[in-house]
Amino acid sequence: MDNFAFLLPVILFAFGLTFLFVGRHEPRSAPWWGAGFLSAALGFIMPVLPEAIPGPFRSVVADTLFLLALSFYGQGLLAQFHRQLPVWPRAGIVAVGIVASVISTLVLENPTISLAANDLLTSLCLAVPAFAVVRHARGLLQRVLVGIVFAIIADSIVRNIVMTVLNRNPSDFETFLASPYAFFMQATSAVIGILLALAALGCVTLEVIGRYKDVAEKDPLTGLFNRRGFDRLSGQKTTAGAVIVCDIDHFKRVNDRYGHAAGDAVIAELARILALEPADGAVLARFGGEEFVIFLPGIALDAALPVAHAMHARIGSTDWSRIGVSAVTASFGVAASRSGDLSIYEVVARADRALYAAKTAGRNCVFTEGERLSEPRPPSARAVA
Ligand code: GH3
Ligand code: MG
Ligand code: MG
Repeated sequence: MDNFAFLLPVILFAFGLTFLFVGRHEPRSAPWWGAGFLSAALGFIMPVLPEAIPGPFRSVVADTLFLLALSFYGQGLLAQFHRQLPVWPRAGIVAVGIVASVISTLVLENPTISLAANDLLTSLCLAVPAFAVVRHARGLLQRVLVGIVFAIIADSIVRNIVMTVLNRNPSDFETFLASPYAFFMQATSAVIGILLALAALGCVTLEVIGRYKDVAEKDPLTGLFNRRGFDRLSGQKTTAGAVIVCDIDHFKRVNDRYGHAAGDAVIAELARILALEPADGAVLARFGGEEFVIFLPGIALDAALPVAHAMHARIGSTDWSRIGVSAVTASFGVAASRSGDLSIYEVVARADRALYAAKTAGRNCVFTEGERLSEPRPPSARAVA
């Protein structure tokens, strides 16, 4: 029991430091978890401090630390799920908890009331944020985290009711430390506390990975996927589908005439326009400077062509003077997968050849794969402004 009692604060302390370290990469929720585990570690140290320190004093300090620990967990939970709640009501619960602990322990000298009040108020510190986030849990790990939080709340309520019903509450703090209640409390807290730390650490880690994946796979100028993001997403989906490539016409002239910053604004605006076209599961990417690739999974050529035309028409009807440049045009190439294709890049290559044909035909138009310049084209396939 004694060794066990020492072990728990050490484990919680190690978790607290880990979260503070991770907080350098994920400063939103990790520091709250860190503060929570450090407070809990200090709280669990109180019973094993030398008896020279008066029991009631240790009891009040431990109560305060647990109130803080569960409030910090609650704050970590809210930050983890991107939720906000006013702080004052919860700060009020902590203040009431401290006052209740002082009165019941030092004035009334009644550990039964002290335990009941502390269990109820610490649970409340965590229950309020837990109910605020429960509907927002996404993915297995977040659901496990919320489940563990509710297990902590249920544990403290059920434990308290059982001990009160059995009337096994001790008459003073020293007897309490030797009681089955204290052992049971430490045992369940140890197991659930460690599970909570692991689940929270997992969620924080996923958050950090998600953020870096976004940085690695997204183009900061347009918010579209870059080549790496396109590779992963198109690889995840079936290779069956259509590809539209779009390249701004005479973009060098835009840069030369209006400057690089205006050129950047044109690229960003064009990306926004392309993203307006609704297409199920479409993957939009910026490949290189002013070239965009759109993968439409499960779409045949005749269904992809109207999408390209709609994008082309939107560019034509945009008031480019809003961003300080004269009319911008773009050319499009469209291709669809065939049964023998080994990867989506064979479709991209054919769409690129169609784009090249569109450029050669005078730009500002949509070409489909296999379409030759000499072929007569239906008016809908050539939308020259
Ligand atoms: P074409 O109609 O044949 O496509 O002619 P173009 O001038 O659009 O094409 P070209 O490939 O010759 O030139 C593309 C230019 O795009 C060259 C480069 O300076 C510019 N560019 C590439 N990336 C960026 C960028 O991120 N921002 C800006 N402002 N310009 C870029
Ligand atoms: Mg160009
Ligand atoms: Mg280009």
